[in-house]
Amino acid sequence: MSKKQLIVLGAGPGGYAAAFLAADLGMDVTLIDKELNPGGVCLYRGCIPSKALLHIAKLVNEAKEASKWGVEFSEPKLYPEKINEWKNKVVKNLTGGLGQLTKQRKVHYIQGTAKFLDPHTLEVEKSGGEKEKLSFENIIIATGSSPARIPNFPEFSDKIWDSTGALDIKKIPKKLLVIGGGYIGLELGTVYASVGSEVTVVEMLPHLLNGADRDLVAVFQKRISKLFKEILVSTKVAGISETKSGVKVTFETSDKKKDEREFDAVLISTGRKPNTKGFDLEKTGVKVDDKGFIIVDKQCKTNVTGIYAIGDVAGEPMLAHKASHEGRTAVEVIAGHKVEFAPNAIPAVVFTDPEIAWCGYTEAEAKESGIKYEVAKFPWAASGRAMTLDRTDGLTKIIIEQGSQRILGMGIAGAGAGELIAEGVLAVEMGANVTDLKLTIHPHPTLSETLMETAEIFFGQSTHIYRPKKSDKSDDKPDANK
Ligand code: FAD
Repeated sequence: MSKKQLIVLGAGPGGYAAAFLAADLGMDVTLIDKELNPGGVCLYRGCIPSKALLHIAKLVNEAKEASKWGVEFSEPKLYPEKINEWKNKVVKNLTGGLGQLTKQRKVHYIQGTAKFLDPHTLEVEKSGGEKEKLSFENIIIATGSSPARIPNFPEFSDKIWDSTGALDIKKIPKKLLVIGGGYIGLELGTVYASVGSEVTVVEMLPHLLNGADRDLVAVFQKRISKLFKEILVSTKVAGISETKSGVKVTFETSDKKKDEREFDAVLISTGRKPNTKGFDLEKTGVKVDDKGFIIVDKQCKTNVTGIYAIGDVAGEPMLAHKASHEGRTAVEVIAGHKVEFAPNAIPAVVFTDPEIAWCGYTEAEAKESGIKYEVAKFPWAASGRAMTLDRTDGLTKIIIEQGSQRILGMGIAGAGAGELIAEGVLAVEMGANVTDLKLTIHPHPTLSETLMETAEIFFGQSTHIYRPKKSDKSDDKPDANK
């Protein structure tokens, strides 16, 4: 049995980023995954295919709207098979490219399913059926997550989908129910509503997108309520069963009123659970918490020496960019560098229309933490670029620490918010203050100017918004008591 210096178990964005950096640092690396090539959920059935479909949704919606700008297209014709083909090609190209990078870096890639035999040994059942035992000095567990199942709900089928089922556009249902008002349900609901489904969203909580500030969600909700047929909040699904013609669903509101309806298809997107079962993790002695996440410290170390965990399996937020940064941290720790995974801002983006993005402190978090903060907001109705795009339905906000005037967080709702938020992440990580943002020359005409103008608003000096003077805030004399 060969002893490996480093094994990375799971080749999602966490695992492959870790393996590639380890190879770059001169380690002997073995990367194991069930799939033919690296990519994980993100590339095969998550971030990438969903964004490919959202691109089509955007195109269709813009074509429908164009008549008000004096350009008339005929009703778009949609060919689900071709849409699927194109989306699958994007996935194949990207995962194939990662396969190439794996070979170029001389990472030893094994396609197979692994399980632990003890804290130092794995057994891999390869795609061809043969088994191999591998011992290791270090292992990074990056096994990711899977869609959560609701007890007593029927199995997934061609009418009852998880996110993977919804990404495989076979036929477009006339009536689609999305259970769960989180980002995955809303993104996939946007895709189906744009290509012609009547989409109903049902959410148990009183609002959509728990975790995002309400004023940002309000911008999104205004537009989405035109695209979706119905959004039911404070409502749960009390029963669901397949019929010959579709899926029968019983809703129950918070005041216990029941309502039965039928849909052609149902997407269940009620969260994801970490993949800690099915590979004999128990044999290592690694501890998991009550939600099933592997417990790690800031260096991605578990309680067992030589065993690290990263990405979705190691805790929230379950996002690809968090996974890859943790993966790189774990490798640096193994290489002996003095590093920690301690970001001030992990951006979150909801790729709906409009997009919502935030990083650092949300306003709600700032309020809860007891920090002294102020908020500056810039409505996009005053942005020239937003007007040229006919997308004045946007809002940029900054959360600012009183006194130091440091930028603690940023939130954006509007077209392209996902791209714009990167500047907020840099500002928070660099400890920039609101004057830095105000004095940074932003290109005109762009939506990025809304970030600069939000900073100007903080001082009551926005060029494009007139506000009667009420504050004597000065950018050279920060004072918490003003
Ligand atoms: P994963 O990507 O889950 O990869 C884990 C890998 O481990 C898998 O390839 C699996 O085959 C392998 N594996 C597991 N067990 C074993 C075993 N025993 N043996 C061998 N291999 C094993 N995140 C974003 O940041 N942005 C987005 O826009 C976004 N959109 C999403 C859309 C959808 C529909 C979904 C479902 C998710 C989305 N996510 C998004 C979340 C993102 O996909 C995950 O956060 C990310 O993939 C986590 O990466 P990971 O490396 O931890 O694990």
